[in-house]
Amino acid sequence: AGERESMFIVNEWAKDYFMNIMDNDPDGVAIGKQYFRSRGFRDDIIKKFQLGFALSQRDSMSKAALAKGYKEEFLVKTGLCYRKDNGELVDRYSGRVIFPWLNVSGKVSAFGGRLLDSRTKGVQQKYVNSPESEIYHKDRELYGLYQAKKAIVKEDRVFMVEGYTDVVSMHQCGIENVVANSGTALSMHQVRLLHRFTSNIVLLYDGDEAGIHAAMRGTDMLLSEGMNIKVLVLPDGDDPDSFSRKHTAVEFRQYIEDNQTDFIEFKTARLLRGVTDPIKRSEAIGSIVRSVSVIPNQIIRDTYLRECSIRLQMSEQTLVSTMNKFIRGDK
Ligand code: ATP
Ligand code: MN
Ligand code: MN
Ligand code: MN
Repeated sequence: AGERESMFIVNEWAKDYFMNIMDNDPDGVAIGKQYFRSRGFRDDIIKKFQLGFALSQRDSMSKAALAKGYKEEFLVKTGLCYRKDNGELVDRYSGRVIFPWLNVSGKVSAFGGRLLDSRTKGVQQKYVNSPESEIYHKDRELYGLYQAKKAIVKEDRVFMVEGYTDVVSMHQCGIENVVANSGTALSMHQVRLLHRFTSNIVLLYDGDEAGIHAAMRGTDMLLSEGMNIKVLVLPDGDDPDSFSRKHTAVEFRQYIEDNQTDFIEFKTARLLRGVTDPIKRSEAIGSIVRSVSVIPNQIIRDTYLRECSIRLQMSEQTLVSTMNKFIRGDK
């Protein structure tokens, strides 16, 4: 087998190993399974996402892998293990619950591991992800896409959320057209990957400053690809996972339908709220018009400008000539 194939094979084995630990090992059940249960995750959903648990001994996975004949080389290349300066081979995810990343064709390309104990937070990172490798490019994958793609096509829209648990909890609520980009900025690769399935995206981000900030990033790229963007901000302090636990599935779905805002409208409200200084206002309006200018469809661009001119009480002519400067690439 080639190198990539060998990496997929050992990842597939490791995914099964972590699942098996959580189902059958006494610590796996008492710690790992118990953790997911305490978060309200159902067994069928745990299975669907092939969640698992890595025991806390720092070499239990690698020992089992080597005993099965998997080569150390691929344990290191996939990032399942790393070598310390003193030469010791260490499991990367020990003591963490495991979220496998499946690529679009369902092969295990990477893992995310979450700490169980929030007391160790600050000392250790809450989440540890596989490093970049030949089979995992962080900016080309979307967590949950494999489980979501059918529903994305069927509903002709996708919800973009921040985290692993948001994806899992939304499935549990019956909303399956959801992917996460793991708290990073969207890349062109990810946008094109999504666009294979739909043109309609709803950004569903955490209800905190960081979440709103994330909702603003990468949006011009989405618009320039011809995607229609809606934004849905959750109540402050909630993410889709925590929100779903405070509400029924029906309420959650209703909230989604009632609170989506068109992205340009959202951006306008957000950038201009309370801004009266003419120079700051003109910067904000410039940024909004720039977003409109990258939309490939002229009718949609013109419609937005008309709406903006009403909302901003500014002549359409001014906005159009500003936009045309952006389109021509003037300063
Ligand atoms: P939980 O509900 O378990 O606390 P979360 O998904 O709500 O998890 P956030 O802090 O909102 O966690 O982060 C959103 C996402 O960003 C995470 O799911 C994870 O994919 C990614 N992330 C967060 N912190 C890290 C980190 N230290 N390293 C890598 N990825 C991270
Ligand atoms: Mn957050
Ligand atoms: Mn979150
Ligand atoms: Mn959360």
